[in-house]
Amino acid sequence: MTLRTSKHPRVMSSNYLIALGSNRPHHLYGSPRSVLAAAMEECAALGTVSARSPIVTSDPMGPAQRSFANAACVLESEYDPPALLAGLKRLEREFGRRTARRWGDRVLDLDIILWSAGTYTSRTLTIPHREFRGRDFVLKPALEIAPDWRDPVTGLTVRHLAARST
Ligand code: ATP
Ligand code: CA
Ligand code: CA
Repeated sequence: MTLRTSKHPRVMSSNYLIALGSNRPHHLYGSPRSVLAAAMEECAALGTVSARSPIVTSDPMGPAQRSFANAACVLESEYDPPALLAGLKRLEREFGRRTARRWGDRVLDLDIILWSAGTYTSRTLTIPHREFRGRDFVLKPALEIAPDWRDPVTGLTVRHLAARST
């Protein structure tokens, strides 16, 4: 029997569904829509962006004052969930996000919605995202690029969740 060994084992990559939001213009990129277009490009620093949704506009919610631009993308990445979250937070900071206020006005918000490997739970990170099942502004863009992706918690597809939430 021959045993094959490798000094460089292949790093497994997995797919993440990322939700993007913006409701403040950026001094260089411009409008929230342009911020999202640029942010989807920058996500390539964290892996391969294999799908991008159209950008939709939604009304302000919670303490936010201005309309949001929202989008979703599928990112194939070798990062595990905490490393990816750290990378996304770095991107948010690079886009000038200052406020830590939940739902507040921000240049860029990047949330991990689904992960092809299933669920992940820690003190600072929950996948699937806790609130996504009731959020039209997440499900609508997601429907465009990942309709058959199944939520591991409810067993429902993005298509089903989107139909249920409207
Ligand atoms: P919401 O989470 O309701 O969309 P938000 O995006 O405005 O609100 P943030 O202030 O951006 O909230 O994030 C608060 C914290 O949520 C982050 O620092 C992060 O540690 C945590 N968090 C937990 N689960 C996730 C996830 N799936 N994706 C991104 N952040 C998450
Ligand atoms: Ca969010
Ligand atoms: Ca967030």
